[in-house]
Amino acid sequence: MSTLGLRPDSVAVHSGREDLKELGVHALPIDLSSTNPLPDIESGGDSYESMATGGYPVPEGGSVYSRLWNPTVARFETALAELEHASTAVAFSSGMAAMTAAVLASTAFSQRRHVVAVRPLYGGTDHLLDSGLLGVEVTFCDEQDVARSIRPDTALVILETPANPTLDLVDIRGVVAQAGDVPVLVDNTFATPILQNPVTLGAAMSLHSATKYLGGHGDVTAGVIACGEETASALRRVRAVTGGLLHPMGAYLLHRGLTTLPIRVRAQQASARQVAGWLAGHPAVKRVHYPGSEGDPRSLLQHQMRGSGAMVAATLRGGYDAAHRLTTSVDLFTHAVSLGGVDSLVQHPAALTHRPVAPEARPSASLVRFSIGLEDPEDLIADLDRALVSHPGQQALRSAGSGLREAADRRA
Ligand SMILES: *Cc1c(COP(=O)(O)O)cnc(C)c1O
Repeated sequence: MSTLGLRPDSVAVHSGREDLKELGVHALPIDLSSTNPLPDIESGGDSYESMATGGYPVPEGGSVYSRLWNPTVARFETALAELEHASTAVAFSSGMAAMTAAVLASTAFSQRRHVVAVRPLYGGTDHLLDSGLLGVEVTFCDEQDVARSIRPDTALVILETPANPTLDLVDIRGVVAQAGDVPVLVDNTFATPILQNPVTLGAAMSLHSATKYLGGHGDVTAGVIACGEETASALRRVRAVTGGLLHPMGAYLLHRGLTTLPIRVRAQQASARQVAGWLAGHPAVKRVHYPGSEGDPRSLLQHQMRGSGAMVAATLRGGYDAAHRLTTSVDLFTHAVSLGGVDSLVQHPAALTHRPVAPEARPSASLVRFSIGLEDPEDLIADLDRALVSHPGQQALRSAGSGLREAADRRA
């Protein structure tokens, strides 16, 4: 059925499935073909040419080869684009493959070699941009310095909101205005299309590490960019040449994941709000980082988001040692990187996800980041209550930390 005019929850369940009834199937079909029979040289060649230059398969010519096109992946792209209110989307093998393609597509085809990046960013993105690996020059700046950082050869502005790991919000419309003619890419991983649609706020691209909320079950690594047709064509061209493809099995799992995305995000967000509130009152916690919490630009949250999301971070009074104790003492939370799944995770960004970031931009060693899952929030709070030690020595140390550190804590 057509999803035209449906509300987001219904779109999530029905998008990318318009032809299923006609096909006589109910579940999403998976096409694992790496190559496809060619009707004849000419139409196959025409289709090849169209796809290699960023276009669609020519109907008579077929999909030709899986690096150029896969119908299962295309279905997922259609569904995601609809949820993002974008014309189309292009999927990749990981969030970082998507980011790489976005930088290459923006710089290589425009012959501009400069990128402006608003910090903080996910550690992998920061590292990719800072490494010089893609042959681009990058100016890192604060949100308010975007206009000043733009040069005649600037091809792209990159920002993340809410940002990983501090949950800082960046004003998307404000940065788009500062960027002028330069396209803006928003990493929308933390917000998901359910809470924020950057393309409707003027961004050229909305990027997701689909590994996180879109998949939602911790069993797919993928990336996707929602955007307009022209941008998609450049991205598909880069994907066809460099090969950062999403496997059809991954696309199937992501497409299935989209159906529960709205209810997962709402339920996880409700628990996150409860956990954030509880953390804010805990004596071991110096500051809670959660969009809309005390001191945050509330109006910005209301302007560009439909909720605060399910990621929470906390600055601990006890610094690194307290973070170490917490991450080794939790039971219900898994101590692991990644986020956005049905189960709750906790990790230490400075040592893990943001390890490759330059020291001046690295998060504090006192910061821990929580991804709140679908468990009962009371159980999550009880787990944190056991693991968070407000006064070192108050609880027998369960961790196998360094003997020296434990001794120091016992003395304190
Ligand atoms: C995880 C993550 C990425 C990278 O995605 P991968 O799928 O791990 O390659 C990019 N941006 C943000 C905000 C992330 O959390």
